[in-house]
Amino acid sequence: MDAPATIWSAWNILAPFTFVACAILIVYWRGWRRLHRAMPTRWGWRRGIFFSAGVIALWISLQSPIDALASWLLAAHMTQHFLLTMIAPPLLLLGWPMPPLLAGVPRWLSRDVLGPILAWPRAQHVGRRLTHPMTGWLAMVFLTWGWHLPVTYQLALEVPAWHLVEHMCFLWGGILFWWSVVAPYPWRSPWPRMAMPLYLLSADVANTIVAAILAFAPSAIYPWYESTAPTFGVSALTDQQKAAAIMWLPGQLVYLIPAAIILFSALSSTRSQRAQQFKSIALPQFSLANRSAKRQIFDVLALPVIGAALKSARVRGAFRWVMLLGALAIIVDGWFGPREASTNIAGTWTWTHWRGFAAITLVAGGNLACMTCPLIAPRTFLRRFITPRFRWPRALSTKWLAAALIMAWLLSYEIWSLWDSSFATAWIIAGYFVVVTVVDLLFEGATFCKWLCPIGQYQMALSVASPLEVRMRSSDVCADCQTQDCLRGNAAAPGCGTGLFMPKKVGNLDCTFCLDCVSACPHDNIGLLTRVPLTDIAQVGWRSSIGVLTKRMDFIVLLAVIAVGAFANALAMTEPLLTLVEASRQWIDSKFLAVTVIVLISMFVIAFPMVLAAWIAPRSDLQIFRARFANITLSLWPLAIAMWLAHLGFHFVTGFRSALPPLQRAAMDIGVNEFGAPQWSANCCAIMPAWLIPAQLCVLGAGVLMSLSLMWSRAERSIEPIQGAHLPNMFSVAWRASISMCAALSWWALGVWIVLQPMQMRGLLNP
Ligand code: SF4
Ligand code: SF4
Repeated sequence: MDAPATIWSAWNILAPFTFVACAILIVYWRGWRRLHRAMPTRWGWRRGIFFSAGVIALWISLQSPIDALASWLLAAHMTQHFLLTMIAPPLLLLGWPMPPLLAGVPRWLSRDVLGPILAWPRAQHVGRRLTHPMTGWLAMVFLTWGWHLPVTYQLALEVPAWHLVEHMCFLWGGILFWWSVVAPYPWRSPWPRMAMPLYLLSADVANTIVAAILAFAPSAIYPWYESTAPTFGVSALTDQQKAAAIMWLPGQLVYLIPAAIILFSALSSTRSQRAQQFKSIALPQFSLANRSAKRQIFDVLALPVIGAALKSARVRGAFRWVMLLGALAIIVDGWFGPREASTNIAGTWTWTHWRGFAAITLVAGGNLACMTCPLIAPRTFLRRFITPRFRWPRALSTKWLAAALIMAWLLSYEIWSLWDSSFATAWIIAGYFVVVTVVDLLFEGATFCKWLCPIGQYQMALSVASPLEVRMRSSDVCADCQTQDCLRGNAAAPGCGTGLFMPKKVGNLDCTFCLDCVSACPHDNIGLLTRVPLTDIAQVGWRSSIGVLTKRMDFIVLLAVIAVGAFANALAMTEPLLTLVEASRQWIDSKFLAVTVIVLISMFVIAFPMVLAAWIAPRSDLQIFRARFANITLSLWPLAIAMWLAHLGFHFVTGFRSALPPLQRAAMDIGVNEFGAPQWSANCCAIMPAWLIPAQLCVLGAGVLMSLSLMWSRAERSIEPIQGAHLPNMFSVAWRASISMCAALSWWALGVWIVLQPMQMRGLLNP
């Protein structure tokens, strides 16, 4: 091992690897020159520069003082692994190495040896397996986790042969992983390009978990560095935290930047292509003739058991009645059970479990929360005897009222600490039932769902991130349809209560997933189909029952309130804000007033970047402000969804075990002892798994990525391309998008800060 004093001069310039690296570069540039002569456009200089940079990065990681320092400091070792896994492989692959290397070796070698081997079917089969995205992903994740276990890491430090194996694993694991991302010519991925952001983000989660374990460990994990790190004036623990920071922050950037580039390039198509895309979103062609398009669509309603169950109005009704029984149990326990919310199912189930579960299912599976909503059951039953006589007034047919109700809901939740009162919760649920039933017995259709229900608006808005959508199967069938029963209804089922006409319906906004249209359509032409999430908000044209979204200020303000609410609701549970509320009591006597003022100020501060970004424009008048505000709100929406998911998912996971004891207690209260005695320790201390904060950060990362992509795409669409070019100048787009991107990044930074704060464990017993 080198002594620290001489470590900085430990350049292994004459090592065998230097000669190997030079030989590879010579072969590559020789082959590149041949290819460049034949196809100068395809084989430009940047390919050679990328490849050379990759070889240099590899050489630096293995032959520079970093290699010597890696035996002394974990941070240096992490830097070495970072270069081996995250920097060198993508650079090498960006050089599209295979054709130049084959063209660069002597002709006899490529013709008589390498050519036959590469043409051998078994070799091709193995090659296909190795370069499959799933292989790359698994290799990266398992190698990252496997080599960071204390036993394997320590082994690599102690035995040089294992150290070499470790480096080989990181290098080749990196090459396999980045192969699918870079897709070096002439390889073609078996996966669609749009799968790559998810591929990268999920690998980022795995990477962040390891980084978080290293960062938050109370002591040094690798004993080797306990004796070496102090030589450089740092403790092994500090060194480990620095290593974690290298793995976490630059690591996350290396995953997020290509994910953003892939998204940008996928969204950056010519206008006519985009128009075609949107046309296909609005009127997808699934005719039998178009078999390839049909194969790509997955229809949940075509599944054997689940599909038949979902299509049955009776089964859907039965689901709602089951949910209704659950709601009644919550109301009864809230009224007559213990007042302590964490021991009552009204407190735990409503605020911890249902909210978290609903948020996860809304994003993962669509608006299943509205589909199984128990509030609809009494109304549906009573409408057998009472026919609604009125239409909802036209003047109130906007989302303004719903936006105001959501604002009131967000404020009252904080002001009256609703999560902490099972009694108030029970009254709110009971009152909700009464209001829904009265409104929907007076007015036709799904009036309450569409124009009033704050929970429904929130659910419909979050379900835009879902990969499922209620949509017609064939536009041809709809084109020939004379009855339009999906909208108007028939004897078999009512039509769409929220006024969505299937051939013109776009996305999940205003869709309650009630599937009444499925029952009503006489041609069995409606499915629950897969789609690209978030296309709802990217769509610019007219849509049934909504019109042009960017011109619907009521809709935009509704989304803005829910988006700001996502951050305000999470912020209100952090320790700094709770301390601020306590401190404010010195000046404001009433807690009601103190919380109101602080929550309103918080919401104003959160909304500020959004409003400012909309206001800063070369020519600011109200009309431009409205258009920009609409665009920014829609673009920020993925980040808002991510914040809701990160926040409610946190409480769902940490409070998951708290669902059972209140149920056991409620059962015992009515004489049912079969569920056992409640173990209240489950409601006392939140258990936070190590993966939770990294997962929250990754969710926020995915949200900001989507928001930035939407901003880019909207900016690009707003600029005329320069003459002769397909796309507008990149710098003009970046400049146009920069202000709204700053707003997105400021929200993202706030979200990250919130996630890292100590969080009030609402709904749990105080230990
Ligand atoms: S009833 Fe069926 S076929 Fe007719 S327009 Fe509606 S979805 Fe299309
Ligand atoms: S389109 Fe209308 S009827 Fe069909 S699932 Fe959505 S809300 Fe229900």
